[in-house]
Amino acid sequence: MTQPSTRTIHAGQSPDEATGAVSRPLHLSSTFRHDSVGVLRAGFEYTRTGNPTRSALQDTLAELEGGRSALTFASGMAAEDAVLRALTGPGAHVLLGDDAYAGTHRLLESTYGAWGVTLATVDLTDVDAVRASVTAQAPTVVWVETPSNPLLRIVDVAAVAEIAHAVGAVVVVDNTFATPYLQQPITLGADLVLHSLTKYLGGHSDVVGGAVVLADDRWRESLADLQNDTGTGLAPFDSWLVSRGIKTLAVRMDRHCTNAARVADALTAHDLVTEVAYPGLATHPGHDVAARQMSGFGGMVSVRLRDAETARTFVESTELFTLAESLGGVESLIEHPATMTHLAAVGTPLQVPDDLVRISVGIEDAGDLVDDLHAALDLARSATGTRVTGRA
Ligand SMILES: *Cc1c(COP(=O)(O)O)cnc(C)c1O
Repeated sequence: MTQPSTRTIHAGQSPDEATGAVSRPLHLSSTFRHDSVGVLRAGFEYTRTGNPTRSALQDTLAELEGGRSALTFASGMAAEDAVLRALTGPGAHVLLGDDAYAGTHRLLESTYGAWGVTLATVDLTDVDAVRASVTAQAPTVVWVETPSNPLLRIVDVAAVAEIAHAVGAVVVVDNTFATPYLQQPITLGADLVLHSLTKYLGGHSDVVGGAVVLADDRWRESLADLQNDTGTGLAPFDSWLVSRGIKTLAVRMDRHCTNAARVADALTAHDLVTEVAYPGLATHPGHDVAARQMSGFGGMVSVRLRDAETARTFVESTELFTLAESLGGVESLIEHPATMTHLAAVGTPLQVPDDLVRISVGIEDAGDLVDDLHAALDLARSATGTRVTGRA
């Protein structure tokens, strides 16, 4: 088996058979000629059902994650919806981490709640709490996210999978933050791996997409049918962009990891920062588990500041870090989860503190990034207290 940095370039990306093109062609065609009635050249008939450019990306993702197959969708949420349709129905019960992506919670609570699927949350970092909840609730699905968004908590996937499988629950792991370059949940016991391709796999903030990678063939047909029946498969051009992004995944992730470690260290030393969440820090509660199940600690850093006003001023004062939602692109981003990405979580068990700032550390020069954060913190220090916001 080749190394991950070789697979990111070669898996599913062999030169085009027909032309020898080294960069695989982008097949925009919506339909494919039958050689004779019902006889298809390469199995492709209509792009909603199957497309060579989408297939190539799916093959790449399956190989990178060590899965049997993969399916890609128009967004991470479309992929989540396909998984939930395939695995649940009225009467099903989903156990979710209490700091999952807020959109996952919203989809389960509103759309699936109305359909008769019940939902409970648990602190998935607490193995005893997981055992108690799983035993008492016998969930249909245990939905894991590690590192989690935005608190960067680490879940022991192997331990949770063992507990979940003992009651017949299906284990889904959202691997968006780690990417298959740093963590392969299937090798730890996951049944299905979910991705927002929008983030590190795409890597350039220019495409929205999602994927499901399957450890075995159990849901292969139902998920492929859903992709076809609902028409939510990833478009050819978007598939091509993600495939192109994946070719540099290894070098990008290496740089994201070293830059994030530099940022985490710099912020730990700062007096306005009360807490730094980065799994690479030896003080992080999930550090040992992360060191065991990941080959690097990722590019995301979350920090708490002395108060909400300082946090708001900080995110508005950076120059290299753009104030924006999303993450995982080459450029650094910063945001205030309580009023941006996790606004939907207010009043739920997933509510995040309002002094929290989430930072997606890009691949720029680490010294420049640290200087920018220091300058913004200086501005936050002098501005706070003088600004009247009217917020309680
Ligand atoms: C962004 C994200 C999603 C949703 O993906 P979209 O591509 O925005 O639909 C799901 N899970 C995590 C962890 C995410 O960060």
